[in-house]
Amino acid sequence: MCFHNRQLVLGKQSSINLNNTGSMDKDKSTGQKLEEKLLMKPENLGNIDNSLLDKAQEFCEPYKEFLENKTEREVVDYTIPILKKKGFKEFQPGKKYVAGERFYMNNRGKNLIMVTVGIKPVSEGLRIGVSHIDSPRLDFKPNPLFEDTDMAYFKTHYYGGIKKYQWTTIPLSLHGVVSLNNGKTVKIRIGEDPEDPSFCVTDLLPHLAQNQMKKSAPEIIEGEQLNILIGCWPYEDEKVNAKVKLNIMRILNEKYGIKEEDFLSAEFCAVPAFKPRDLGLDRSMIGAYGQDDSSCAYASLMAEIDCINPEFTTVTVFADKEETGSDGVTGMRSYFFRDFVEDFVSAYGLEVRHVLRKSICLSCDVNAAIDPAWADVFEKNNCSFLNRGPVVSKYTGSRGKYSTNDASAEVMGFLRNILDEAKITWQVGELGKVDIGGGGTIASEISVHNLDTVDMGVPVLSMHAPLEVTSKADVYMLYKAILAFYASKNVKQ
Ligand SMILES: [Zn+2]
Repeated sequence: MCFHNRQLVLGKQSSINLNNTGSMDKDKSTGQKLEEKLLMKPENLGNIDNSLLDKAQEFCEPYKEFLENKTEREVVDYTIPILKKKGFKEFQPGKKYVAGERFYMNNRGKNLIMVTVGIKPVSEGLRIGVSHIDSPRLDFKPNPLFEDTDMAYFKTHYYGGIKKYQWTTIPLSLHGVVSLNNGKTVKIRIGEDPEDPSFCVTDLLPHLAQNQMKKSAPEIIEGEQLNILIGCWPYEDEKVNAKVKLNIMRILNEKYGIKEEDFLSAEFCAVPAFKPRDLGLDRSMIGAYGQDDSSCAYASLMAEIDCINPEFTTVTVFADKEETGSDGVTGMRSYFFRDFVEDFVSAYGLEVRHVLRKSICLSCDVNAAIDPAWADVFEKNNCSFLNRGPVVSKYTGSRGKYSTNDASAEVMGFLRNILDEAKITWQVGELGKVDIGGGGTIASEISVHNLDTVDMGVPVLSMHAPLEVTSKADVYMLYKAILAFYASKNVKQ
């Protein structure tokens, strides 16, 4: 079963009465009319409304700026000033908020919860949108710095699911924080500014790679080979052993005041240093790192901001640790979300379980768009296409639908009505063919709270690669879809 653009077909149809014997219909056979009436017909957004790209271009300029924040901490730091400008204040647990009031909760600098209080009492339920702001990357090991063959490197442990061979010979930038002995925290970001030096993981030249190239793809580059080259000039002192390593520490110490032992209480990572850019001669796409899941995070942020005076209270959550299974105090398996809801609703004398039971949540995460170069791993009737709008995934998981949230018919129906009423063009999609692979989102970490949940997000090409591709029109349409969900007055059963 496929929901591709159902609205589209009807939209066209609704403006043309089936019995209307107008010229356009006159040429259609009975079968064609029935086909239009009964069958869905997938269509490219550009065929529906070609001017949509102009609106999407405008929407995606600030989105590209948002993408320049490449770690969960940077996204939180970037978003809070925007929220403050829009009237969001810091959350005060226990305060009884009134309709229209807006606030945010910052969890350890890595999560954000943003709320706009609705006209309806909180006891009537919340409209929740959760996306994640962490992306696959190369994390530094706790003792990263070493010298070998007169070159200095940082050792890494990759974070999230990656194709390791994609992370060699591309420019990398370094991001992170260090907690110093004096309790101060130093933030570091090197390699994003064109004036900054950049970094990389080297690879073997093809001339000597005969054996390497015989290895299976996962072994062509091994985890322990993902070392970041950071220097080769020695410190001038013949009595010193690791001259290059010392010189690197000298530079870091002069600039940030850190010593080698400070890496023990630090979070550093390397990410692709590419700037988010328009992609394609038609500039219809964006090529950038971290679109899984910053595309959905940005769309949900803008929907939260633009949905003023909603009927139901809206809650937008930026989660962390999704790429590693949502564990930890900032992942959706943590109680931070439930504790927040409890702190919020208990001010009204309400039980968190009652409010969550009446609420509904969109797990806003990307889906794998079909790529014709690998069409054989996609099932065309149930996969997503670039430029056909946001993808609603009834379930994710793998094999026999293991470890997934499988949205009920009622939840799918509820969302479908909202999207169709708002004339949103959308599609459904699984994650590839059955038994080919699979993946997950945070949906099951949310539904564990007895909270109805369904996945919806942007279709992406080259997911988890250093450079991911999205269609601007899809990102824009997701924003409209989440806005419609937040603004909807429909009552959930
Ligand atoms: Zn994701």
